[in-house]
Amino acid sequence: MQVNKLEVLSNVKVSERYWHMIVDSQELTNQIEPGQFFNIKCADDSFPFLRRPFSIYRINKEDGTIEFLYLVKGLGTVKLTEVKAGETVDVFGPLGVGFSLAKEWDTILLLARGVGIATLAALAQEAAKQNIKCVAILSARSNNDLLATETLQGFGAEVYKVTEEDGTSDVDNVEIIMEQIFKEHDVKAGFTCGSKRLSRLMQKVTQEKNIPAQIALEEHMGCAMGVCYACVCDVQHGDKIESVRVCKEGPVFDLDKVVLA
Ligand SMILES: Cc1cc2nc3c(=O)[nH]c(=O)nc-3n(C[C@H](O)[C@H](O)[C@H](O)COP(=O)(O)OP(=O)(O)OC[C@H]3O[C@@H](n4cnc5c(N)ncnc54)[C@H](O)[C@@H]3O)c2cc1C
Repeated sequence: MQVNKLEVLSNVKVSERYWHMIVDSQELTNQIEPGQFFNIKCADDSFPFLRRPFSIYRINKEDGTIEFLYLVKGLGTVKLTEVKAGETVDVFGPLGVGFSLAKEWDTILLLARGVGIATLAALAQEAAKQNIKCVAILSARSNNDLLATETLQGFGAEVYKVTEEDGTSDVDNVEIIMEQIFKEHDVKAGFTCGSKRLSRLMQKVTQEKNIPAQIALEEHMGCAMGVCYACVCDVQHGDKIESVRVCKEGPVFDLDKVVLA
């Protein structure tokens, strides 16, 4: 883990609300795992003071590049859109604990919403490399926000899309789709990110099916180094509930242990 000034190869608007950035990460690319994140300094000046965390969207080992897909929300991400190709971006990472894939998992189910889709895309990329079949349910406000669909399909994933726009994104409908997927595929593990509602559903379904599941949590972060404890969440350990840091012990956790309030 280190601070790096990486050259931005491209930083473009890809939909009404989302931007896509590719950076040259030659020396880092081999150290990065899906589910990990970088804490990015979004502007050269000291405002905003805090870096902002972003998951790795794609890891391109052959090209020595990594990609980020980000939603423009507030000051930090607005400033990030102003970074031009050829300039550098100050990134700290890779940080945190990423996803793990077991050899015996030949089919996995991904359930992601909003920016959580970016986080699970890198996992789908790694699964494709390991010949693991991915079935993905992607949820978003509108079809316009389902940018990563083609990326996931490019990794061989079978993708189901649900949106508010189409009236298909309610939890009950997602559960129906999940049941259908479980009938058609021998799903060995589940992965989720981006929505507490959908994560609770994934937790329930994977516990019923008695299969493992992992979640990448997205909490507000301060230092992202495990010092400030701004990003704690609760996990169950036997009879006890423990507070853990999303930036250090996470962001990926076993879903059955996470307390999803
Ligand atoms: C581990 C991790 C990985 C992430 N990966 C991605 C990614 O790949 N792509 C992406 O677009 N975003 C990702 N995020 C979320 C991203 O960090 C925030 O959207 C970003 O920090 C917002 O910064 P801002 O300055 O633009 O907005 P701010 O001005 O900081 O916030 C704007 C609004 O968003 C809310 N907000 C800020 N951060 C979060 C958060 N973490 N969770 C919920 N609400 C928040 C604020 O309360 C405020 O209402 C990730 C977050 C974490 C913790």
